[in-house]
Amino acid sequence: MEGYELPAEEKIVITHELLNQEYKRLVLDPRRSHMHELISTMLSHRTNHADEQQAYYTMLERFGDWEGVLNAPEDELADAVSTTRYPLQKAPQIQQTLRMIKEDRGEINIDFLADLPIDEAMAWLTRLPGVGPKTATLLLLFNFKKPVLPVDTHVFRVSQRVGLIGAKITANKAHDVLLEMLPKDATELFNFHKHLFWHGQKVCTWSYPKCEKCVLNGICNYYSQVRAKGIDKAA
Ligand code: SF4
Repeated sequence: MEGYELPAEEKIVITHELLNQEYKRLVLDPRRSHMHELISTMLSHRTNHADEQQAYYTMLERFGDWEGVLNAPEDELADAVSTTRYPLQKAPQIQQTLRMIKEDRGEINIDFLADLPIDEAMAWLTRLPGVGPKTATLLLLFNFKKPVLPVDTHVFRVSQRVGLIGAKITANKAHDVLLEMLPKDATELFNFHKHLFWHGQKVCTWSYPKCEKCVLNGICNYYSQVRAKGIDKAA
């Protein structure tokens, strides 16, 4: 049997091992406060990290704190986050999110998620406007160390090309399909996520992936079915 023909359950173990050797292992430590992570992740949609950060700090500098952001005129908030894509959508979504948190919890604070089971925390978060499975799983894994798997565009693309998930699986469904095959350990899931993310950024790029340099090419569907046959010749 060729490497690419292995079942997904075996490929994912090999993928995790090879990327653990290729990239540095990380310790799972929250990089920012829970509210910071939530709102920054909303701002990061289709936006690079530098522009997202600029928007975040401009917003808090102008309006002081979450109460100030909640009560700011919507057009001024949109202006404050205008370094991100879709500021006119993000401004009302952020205010609605802050309003819903305050109405539900009596304060703008989401620390209570630490004590909720994963299903309940996911359900609560994905009721917030602009918060889908990707944002919710990022927050629950990165900040609350819950064993869930965020699937962003890089994780999704690499997983599909290697053949960890089928071609018809949606990004939202991929969270569950991949998680089912991985250890339910937050540090392992964090490293798996970060390694696939880096791999998608640096090697398995959207346009003409660098397959010849890739440590996964021995098990990759795309490599054996497309690249090795010369179907995707470089422009
Ligand atoms: S072999 Fe190519 S398509 Fe497969 S994971 Fe590596 S870079 Fe991506």
